[in-house]
Amino acid sequence: MENTVKPMEDPQLFGHPKGLFYLFFAELWERFSFYGMRALLTLYMVDVVFAALTTRDFAAAAVYASYGSLVYASTVIGGRISDKILGMRNSIFLGGILMAIGHFVLAVENNYAFFIALALIVVGNGFFKPNISTFVGSLYKEDDIRKDSGFVIFYMGINIGGFAAPLLCGWLGREYGWHYGFGLAGIGMLIGLITFWSGIKKNIFGDKGLPPTETILDKPILGIKQGLMIPILAVASVPLIAYLLSSYKALGEKGSFLEDDNIVNIIFYVIAIAIGAFLIKILIEANSDERKKLIVAILITFFITIFWGFHELSGSIITLFAARNVNLTFIDASQTNALNSMYIIILSIPISMLFTYLKKKKLDPRTPYKFGLGLAFAGISFFILSMSSGSADENGMVPFSYLLVMYFLISVGELFMSPVGLSKITDLSPKRIVAFMMGIWFLASAFAFQIVGFIGKQLAIESTDKNVGGLETLGIYTDGFGLVAKYALGASVIVLIASPLIKKLMGKVH
Ligand code: GLN
Repeated sequence: MENTVKPMEDPQLFGHPKGLFYLFFAELWERFSFYGMRALLTLYMVDVVFAALTTRDFAAAAVYASYGSLVYASTVIGGRISDKILGMRNSIFLGGILMAIGHFVLAVENNYAFFIALALIVVGNGFFKPNISTFVGSLYKEDDIRKDSGFVIFYMGINIGGFAAPLLCGWLGREYGWHYGFGLAGIGMLIGLITFWSGIKKNIFGDKGLPPTETILDKPILGIKQGLMIPILAVASVPLIAYLLSSYKALGEKGSFLEDDNIVNIIFYVIAIAIGAFLIKILIEANSDERKKLIVAILITFFITIFWGFHELSGSIITLFAARNVNLTFIDASQTNALNSMYIIILSIPISMLFTYLKKKKLDPRTPYKFGLGLAFAGISFFILSMSSGSADENGMVPFSYLLVMYFLISVGELFMSPVGLSKITDLSPKRIVAFMMGIWFLASAFAFQIVGFIGKQLAIESTDKNVGGLETLGIYTDGFGLVAKYALGASVIVLIASPLIKKLMGKVH
């Protein structure tokens, strides 16, 4: 008998698979927890965890960098375990639960609890973040033209969370105490998990996101089912990661090669060398067309690392600058962390419309130019922040408008680079290593935090005074921002000059 039953279409909403909106809200709340906590993190370390140290800024910069690096590096492992064993759904649940516990542990006022909590978030994010992003991709068939706009909608969700969280968690932290702020972050994560779970209950995702085979979770390792062994290993890794995070002291003497470096820095040096060696091997083995494209993929990953390295200063040195040197009336320093996401929400649709318009006129800049311009925006944004010292009052406080302009510009830069980069990596990498290159793309954010740590340590103020700031710190910060501006602008000029050549290497890829 002829089969007349059509295959079940996934349910649709507003022209997109309905599942997108469940993932949108789950990620919105996950990022709410991530950025709510991040807004408080540096200030909490400086004012509470390391308050008694004269080197508290240095310690905070080191831990912030280690946390940021590990929280993004763990995504490479989480992505792989999901592909091979757990599947996206289980990974998202495991990651979300670990993150929620991490945020609640942060609500306990104790320094050991602090590092355990950060480690839980590192492991949890490793399972959650890469898998929810790939889940979005899996809702669309490969050639579905709605995929890009699906990701734009998803990026919006990320930033709605990133906008609301610093405002709310920052307010709670200020009015009622740090731990209420962290607690709210935990509640946000729980709402994210419940959203995802309700999507599964209503069978919104069909058969997507399941483990690669039906029996794989039951396969034993060392006599224990894999489905159980992985959560056990994930939890067991927490004390080790907590130990790494707490090792903020530099290993070398002053003046030596390792004068600022701790164990995590060394680990990332080793990873960088290993990746470099592996990429050279792949480049040698590739055929000439593959090699050209791969060089471009490596270059754009390198450029985005530099960009995030300056951009991610927001949760660290820029938050301290806001606390110590910016005249804030409506919001406090932690809440300034909402500005980047606010601009992304406002600008992402106009900028994507601009690119579509230019595309129609065949005038849209190709990827390397977009990257060069993105870095230029970052450079100008820091240049403006460095100029703020000229408008400081007699107490060394600068107008809030500088921060507003700075965040506006760097957010424009972000929209020139971040959404474009991800899809270019898939276009430019040979199929057999595309998953590896995606991993490297996430590692770019991890390495960026090493840059953040380096800059943060250079600009660390030695003091235990809660009210340090004003004229004492203004010049240090604004000179530092001036240097960042020079590096970003220098990088942008190099990229723009090299763009015609990079364009040639890209062949047909736009
Ligand atoms: N703001 C984006 C997010 O949270 C990208 C951050 C990054 O990769 N450094 O997903």
